[in-house]
Amino acid sequence: MASTHHILQSRPNPNLISIVIPCYNEEAVVPILRERITEFMKVLPCPAEIILVNDGSADQTINLLWKWAETDQRIKVIGFARNFGHQPAVTAGMDVAEGDAVVIIDADLQDPLEVILEMLKKYCDGYDIVYGQREERTGESTFKLLTAWFFYRIMRKLVHKDLPVDAGDFRLIARDALDTLKSMREMHRFLRGMGAWVGFAQCPVVYKRAARVAGETKYPLSKMLKFAWTAAVSFSAFPLRLSLGLGIVVAIFGFMAGIYAIIQAVLHFLNTNPSQVYNPGWATLVTLLCLIGGAILICLGILGEYVGRIFEEIKARPLYIIRCSKNVTLPK
Ligand code: UDP
Ligand code: MG
Repeated sequence: MASTHHILQSRPNPNLISIVIPCYNEEAVVPILRERITEFMKVLPCPAEIILVNDGSADQTINLLWKWAETDQRIKVIGFARNFGHQPAVTAGMDVAEGDAVVIIDADLQDPLEVILEMLKKYCDGYDIVYGQREERTGESTFKLLTAWFFYRIMRKLVHKDLPVDAGDFRLIARDALDTLKSMREMHRFLRGMGAWVGFAQCPVVYKRAARVAGETKYPLSKMLKFAWTAAVSFSAFPLRLSLGLGIVVAIFGFMAGIYAIIQAVLHFLNTNPSQVYNPGWATLVTLLCLIGGAILICLGILGEYVGRIFEEIKARPLYIIRCSKNVTLPK
């Protein structure tokens, strides 16, 4: 499928680049991150601010971040009141970012910082969203690779046809696209899908994803499945259509069984031999009952998911709650 073409206008490096890093229980990672970021800021071709969002960590993460921010005005820290999740953490960073370009990157340095330099080149070429596309993954289990592979292919069908395959949240977003994304305040967020949805001039930068520098993944399978479900139902009515399809199939079965039952009954009454026992067809009846009952419950369940989401969206609660901050001007 061809994606939209844009007129690209080259531009200079941003006056300021904001690097947003969500951190959840990353005490093992922060010291290494600090070292690498400090070195990296020296090679960046423009001034930078680093926005570290502590997503309600239960370890020493916030203390480490705080100490770091005390030594450098460019290091900005936001502390959440509790754990809100990766997507709200990234959103908070995007909300306070002041740069002309914003980069979202994980704390664990699985995405190499140097790739940002390539992203900046694409930014200068005129691209508004430059996403990192993984070429190869090392240090991850076959199971994780396989689930990720399926995840992206199915999501492409469900979420958006332009959803980049094998791309995570590691990306550079230019100011215009960022402001558009910031205006989308839905509670159930899938930023990659939202990025595909807004359009703009987009391009990939291919890179090799490394293993975590320290600590463990904060995205176990259960969280990944929940995230995939959020992505599917917050972007697409396909599951609802699926339940309609299921309903139709079951109804056709029911209709055919009904006709069969009528024919049986008629044949029974026409039968003049009274010694033949009429088969009441309990087995058929019970089977059909279970089938139809099950299908109705499935459809109701899917419908319920959507109603539940409407309920949560309509409450319009804040996406995150900030408990403390350092070196940051919080938006009103
Ligand atoms: N993260 C977060 N809140 C959460 C879970 C994760 O802010 O509830 C952060 C985490 O600290 C890391 C990033 O999101 O910087 C990605 O998490 P992780 O590396 O564990 O995921 P994976 O790379 O294994 O998919
Ligand atoms: Mg990671």
